[in-house]
Amino acid sequence: MKNFTYHNPTRILFGKGRIADLDDHVPDNARVLILYGGGSAERTGVLDQVRTALGERTITEFGGIEPNPRYATAMKAVDTARQNDVDFLLAVGGGSVIDATKFIAAAMYHDGDAWEILTSHGSVVGKAAPFGTVLTIPATGSEMNPGSVITNEEKGAKLAFMNAHCYPQFSVLDPEVTFTLPERQIANGVADAFVHIIEQYLTYPVDARVQDGFAETLLRTLIDLGPRALRDPKNYEVRANLMWTATLALNGLIGAGVPQDWSSHMIGHEITALNDTDHARTLAVVLPALMDDQRDRKTGKLLQYAANVWNINEGEDATRIDAAIAATRDFFETMGIETRLADYGVGEAGIDHIVSALKDHGMTEMGEHGAITPEDARRILNAAA
Ligand code: NAP
Ligand code: FE
Repeated sequence: MKNFTYHNPTRILFGKGRIADLDDHVPDNARVLILYGGGSAERTGVLDQVRTALGERTITEFGGIEPNPRYATAMKAVDTARQNDVDFLLAVGGGSVIDATKFIAAAMYHDGDAWEILTSHGSVVGKAAPFGTVLTIPATGSEMNPGSVITNEEKGAKLAFMNAHCYPQFSVLDPEVTFTLPERQIANGVADAFVHIIEQYLTYPVDARVQDGFAETLLRTLIDLGPRALRDPKNYEVRANLMWTATLALNGLIGAGVPQDWSSHMIGHEITALNDTDHARTLAVVLPALMDDQRDRKTGKLLQYAANVWNINEGEDATRIDAAIAATRDFFETMGIETRLADYGVGEAGIDHIVSALKDHGMTEMGEHGAITPEDARRILNAAA
């Protein structure tokens, strides 16, 4: 196992009716900015639950944060926060609203061009406003990690940053608020969480039994319950298990002390920057092709994945690996997610664009060995065409 420091300060308030407990966790005298997305939180009544819980506190609201949140929109929210002398932010939504809130919290205290927060990957952040979240879609893990991804349309870039000041103080996880998710978003959430786990698990093996065992359990839970959530959308236990799985998939726990390979995410971000394809769908395109391409570097772990996640134990090594990759692709397809680039309108010119964007964004040494280059990404994307 590699050396690691593990500290996660986010308090989780999990279960039915927990939005009411905001009253105990938002400071009594706070001037709160509530941030939300395109309207689902209003339609589903979640925002009303939040307003009621906040009682007499001074509230300002900022809606309209897009999926794959935009830099320009987040900067408008920074203005709103400053004009209203806000001192606590509350994100009500999914990864997009939470990621935008992290950026806004940091940008409120940043002198100079806030885009530097992204280009420095967060290293320039010295302070951020305190914030909490009310999660409405299990997917990203953003509710319990310090990461954020922001899209700058003007620059054609989707960049991530991370900073320890950007952990939520608390996150409310009420599985009942996920009953209103459309099928497409249920599937997206399951696929995103699945790939988060894979990118911390399917790497050059170190002897990390707990992390591997946790990761395998989380993967099997998604494989079992993802399709069940589509068939039986009002099943509380299914939703509760999915919600906690997606949080544990990316809260630092399974990634502590192990090599990590975020290349599917890095390549996927460039697909979204190109044509706004849903984040999770880009991952479902890249991952199976990347597993196949990198099979020589990841042989041991691919065989472990085949056996412990898919119960594939028969045949030669290559046969078992082929079967595990096919099972992964089938799982995405079963959830209604297409896994080929052409399904999202990306052809040869698109691949050229993605490869040069990876170069522009410094993504020249991806993977747990730093050995996946943009030209390797071209080969992977061609295989995913
Ligand atoms: P999202 O973009 O936050 O939301 C997707 C859609 O679901 C929106 O249209 C939203 O509608 C709708 N929605 C959310 N909750 C709903 C509910 N309860 N009922 C009905 N509709 C609902 O989805 P996400 O997958 O959570 O976030 C994706 C973003 O997170 C991407 O930008 C991705 O790059 C990023 N990401 C971040 C991390 C991280 O660690 N920080 C990791 C992976 C990905 P409204 O807009 O109308 O609310
Ligand atoms: Fe993701």
